Amino acid sequence: MSHDFAQNFSLADRTVLITGASSGIGAHLARIAARAGARVVLAARRLDRLEQVARDVEWECAQVLSVALDVTDRASVEAAFDAAEARFGVVDVVLNNAGIGNGQRPLEISEEEWRAMLATNLDGVWRVAQVAAQRLAKAGRGGSIVNIASILGLRVGNGYSHYCAAKAGVVQLTKSLALELARYRIRVNAIAPGYFKTEMNAAFFESDKAKSYIRDLIPMRRLGQLHELEGPFLLLASDAGGFMTGSVLAVDGGHLVSSI
Ligand code: NDP
Repeated sequence: MSHDFAQNFSLADRTVLITGASSGIGAHLARIAARAGARVVLAARRLDRLEQVARDVEWECAQVLSVALDVTDRASVEAAFDAAEARFGVVDVVLNNAGIGNGQRPLEISEEEWRAMLATNLDGVWRVAQVAAQRLAKAGRGGSIVNIASILGLRVGNGYSHYCAAKAGVVQLTKSLALELARYRIRVNAIAPGYFKTEMNAAFFESDKAKSYIRDLIPMRRLGQLHELEGPFLLLASDAGGFMTGSVLAVDGGHLVSSI
């Protein structure tokens, strides 16, 4: 039996839609999807930023489309998938990555802050997954949904009770959808990143407090680098992970196994 490992990880002839593609993890993995041969749909609220990312993606692959998308708005999600389908056909792979991450103490979270967190980080992930799955099922095609959870969906940290609750929801949503969508040949998995410096947290990670935190609490004593998410993403998105569904891959330098 011969194995073509590179071929297994290929996204050639697949349409990949990435939410939150205007910065950080989403923008990085969009480039990787393009390099793996996919037709790439970049989606987020800031169209100007998507177009900057698209110029890079185009450098590697001519097939890229930027669409304005707000994951909190059903009509916006449907419109983004309509635009993707009009250009490239049914979306095969979704990277459900859009999210917000502002910290707040539990006694001070307002109703509005709580709602905004859940609306983006949990409801938004559900909405995008549901729309993607409805369209795949209707077309009779299998596909792959990769949700970006967090190690804060599996453990807890100070100042993030709303974020932890939302990300724990993403973990359970991933497993529930994996169970129910397998019959449609739609795989649903999650990546639980540890700490990576992006726009969401750059100010904190430049502080001295963060440096001692990283040294004391992350076994590998450093932040992750965006390229270290490429392998897990390609594994879950491609045929290489063809028998994987309902899994949650931690990519965290050992943070989840830190000593108690
Ligand atoms: P960034 O702030 O760099 O990126 C967040 C992205 O989400 C932006 O592209 C933003 O685009 C988009 N976004 C936010 N709200 C919406 C919305 N309502 N509709 C559509 N897009 C939206 O942060 P990261 O790259 O770090 O975060 C990406 C994901 O990774 C998030 O889900 C985050 O929780 C998760 N994560 C990050 C970790 C880290 O250490 N960086 C650790 C664990 C998880 P725009 O403003 O243009 O809409």
